[in-house]
Amino acid sequence: MIDYRSDTVTKPSQKMLEVMITAELGDDVYGDDPTVNAFEKKMAALTGFEAAMIVNSGTQSNLCALLAHCSRGEEYIVGQGYHTYLYEAGGAAVLGSVVPQPISVQPSGELAFNDIEAVIKEDDQHFAKSKLLSLENTHCGKVIPLDYFIKARKLANKHNLAIHLDGARIFNALTELNIELAEMCQYVDSISICFSKGLGTPMGSVLCGSKEIINKARRIRKMVGGGTRQAGLIAKAMDYALEHNVSKLADDHANAKLLANLLSDCDELAITEPQTNMVYITLDEKINAQLMAKLLLQEGIKVSAGQTLRLVTHLNIDKADIIYTADTIKDILSLM
Ligand SMILES: *Cc1c(COP(=O)(O)O)cnc(C)c1O
Repeated sequence: MIDYRSDTVTKPSQKMLEVMITAELGDDVYGDDPTVNAFEKKMAALTGFEAAMIVNSGTQSNLCALLAHCSRGEEYIVGQGYHTYLYEAGGAAVLGSVVPQPISVQPSGELAFNDIEAVIKEDDQHFAKSKLLSLENTHCGKVIPLDYFIKARKLANKHNLAIHLDGARIFNALTELNIELAEMCQYVDSISICFSKGLGTPMGSVLCGSKEIINKARRIRKMVGGGTRQAGLIAKAMDYALEHNVSKLADDHANAKLLANLLSDCDELAITEPQTNMVYITLDEKINAQLMAKLLLQEGIKVSAGQTLRLVTHLNIDKADIIYTADTIKDILSLM
């Protein structure tokens, strides 16, 4: 099976597993796991923040961040299609009584500054208190440039807002922008980074921010059952991914571009040039996306099908898989 549904399907390699079992372990809830402590320190240094905390998932990481920044009755401004609004079961509202203020996302993946300013609320008893701006990079595979964050910081400062960056795929963005993690992080107050997206770890995310934010976030992580005991096993996997797999993201991006290029001569398909590892294919209205997905599955190719097809390239997909996939899609189209 070639599985393009998401880069979350990447599996730990034999090498990663071998390194994991060498991890020196302790009880992380007591703060005793040396592997966790070393990895958190490393991530704080890499992002330029005071502190870092490992978490079980990106969703848990974002929840801890939203609830650390905002209290009951305070709001975060967020994109309608951003993960922290749409795909986290409303956690901030359900568990923290934090009010989401969603606004539309531009085709670039950014939030328009005008739209943000239009929803920032004055201090008035009628309104929730505007507290946080929740951004995302990459969003649907689109890279948000550094300049956007410079401007967002200015706007946030003017209105006394903090900024949280959902950087589930921040390494994909940094690969394209050719900048270091700390350069991006200097403009935000916290960042969440996933290591189970395209990097081969079985689980794990990291939340980075000031000591104050991370201390608050630790309490929330415990509250939602995210205090993991011998978590060094996972920290070791994340550290392995950082050292060996982040540099391979460029291959995933090249593979996504290759797939888009190989299919560019198909009149039945509309494909926008992928910026990172996601290829969105819009089919001619005569062709049903679900049917295409079913036919691909029979040929050993798994894709996500909604209005469009989404194919995500990752560590466990190579160039030969891409060529086979393009040929298979063309064969199916020729029979339709
Ligand atoms: C996947 C994802 C998350 C959440 O990650 P999980 O580990 O699946 O909970 C958060 N934000 C974005 C943008 C994501 O793509």
